[in-house]
Amino acid sequence: MNFETLGLAPALLRALADAGYTVPTPIQTQAVPLVLAGEDVLGGAQTGTGKTAAFGLPLLQRLVEGGKPATGPRKPRALILVPTRELAVQVADSLRGYSKYLRLNVTTIFGGAGMGPQVDNLRRGVDILVATPGRLIDHMQQGSAKLDAVEILVLDEADRMLDMGFLPAMKRILSRVPTERQTLLFSATFEPRIKQLALEFMRDPKQVQVAAQNTIAATIQHRAHPVDGARKRDLLIDILTARHTEQVLVFGKTKHGCNRLAEQLESAGLPALAIHGNKSQAARQKALNAFKSGKARILVATDVAARGLDIPNLPLVINHDLPMVAEDYIHRIGRTGRNGAQGEAISLVSPDEAPLLRQIQRLLKSDIALEAIDGFEPSRPIRLDANAPGSGAPRAQAPRPGGQRPPRKPGNRGHGKPADRGAHAHAHTGQKPGKERGQERGQGRGQGRPGGQRATRG
Ligand code: AMP
Repeated sequence: MNFETLGLAPALLRALADAGYTVPTPIQTQAVPLVLAGEDVLGGAQTGTGKTAAFGLPLLQRLVEGGKPATGPRKPRALILVPTRELAVQVADSLRGYSKYLRLNVTTIFGGAGMGPQVDNLRRGVDILVATPGRLIDHMQQGSAKLDAVEILVLDEADRMLDMGFLPAMKRILSRVPTERQTLLFSATFEPRIKQLALEFMRDPKQVQVAAQNTIAATIQHRAHPVDGARKRDLLIDILTARHTEQVLVFGKTKHGCNRLAEQLESAGLPALAIHGNKSQAARQKALNAFKSGKARILVATDVAARGLDIPNLPLVINHDLPMVAEDYIHRIGRTGRNGAQGEAISLVSPDEAPLLRQIQRLLKSDIALEAIDGFEPSRPIRLDANAPGSGAPRAQAPRPGGQRPPRKPGNRGHGKPADRGAHAHAHTGQKPGKERGQERGQGRGQGRPGGQRATRG
């Protein structure tokens, strides 16, 4: 199977050849012909499977084939809704690459950036609009985004948009898009709320699905160290100093945070490089090459930057910050423990991140041992049991583990017992029956270590 036999036009085939794509991925093989035929498609695929091209290539082709001569500024004919700014940038970049021999404009709008330049771009005329729901509503309200010419609507990572509370915004947007349209919905899972969305907003959707690419190696040890956010850097330096031989991939939350962390590690005598979405692909590749050649032992990355990079098998991945969505944990640790090799995944978890850790455990269907490190015990306990606040389960009136003892002061390293010892003990999965994400995907063979025991520092 190649891209030509999928029915794609020569201008797209040329762009794909330039990008070095030779063989379509399974989701592309399944989805492209359906989308080209004008069907609504419900796609079960997560990032890394090639889903962007799976909807993007036929979408571009349909726009070109159905092209009308432009009169006045063009209104978006395709709207792609995505959960995050990072994904908006990533999707738009991909579409620009695929459409380099076509005359179509791709514009992004997302929150956290000025409205002004986005309004200017919309005014200049847009063929394909990639937007996050919240910011799109802002533009609709002030009249800068008009959706009445939309022919193709894509809901990308719909499950994440629902997780992020975008359902009301999505419904408002959907009510302003013509009902006579093609709708494509991509989601990592076909959980009931996704099916409900499809039922409400799609016409006889054809279902295609591929297995998750990143399954978890059974040879990976997962560990989490509870620590206050402000002390994570010191703990990370301790761990990296103690384990001075291995190459390590460290994940951070923000571009800025990753840059700063790499600088701080450098100053602590730990050669580190940062890769993030603000750097060009070439700059990221350069940093990766330096890492691969051993010039830098530590690579600090955001989720977005690490995506699409061929990072070698590593013995150790450290989450300085937990990912905002549990699936990204799987992407991250997919960098270790490959091909039967031993791997280790260490997460530094602040009390605020307890709900994220619970989601990860639910996805892994496994406990992750919480091990307090002497001198780094957090000032608040981390609760991972089903009764913990925010776990979704009804709260029992249980006394707080660790009783009324005041929190330990930071800086008192290596002495005495940690406060809230009980709270650091074994983490339970807190599973809800039958509702876990990932359940349909055959994931979750991660191994938790028998929890509860305290680790020595480093
Ligand atoms: P996605 O799942 O859309 O985020 O794509 C994951 C990565 O795979 C991106 O870096 C794409 O550029 C790349 N990719 C997508 N389709 C192909 C293909 N058929 N051949 C090679 N790389 C691809």
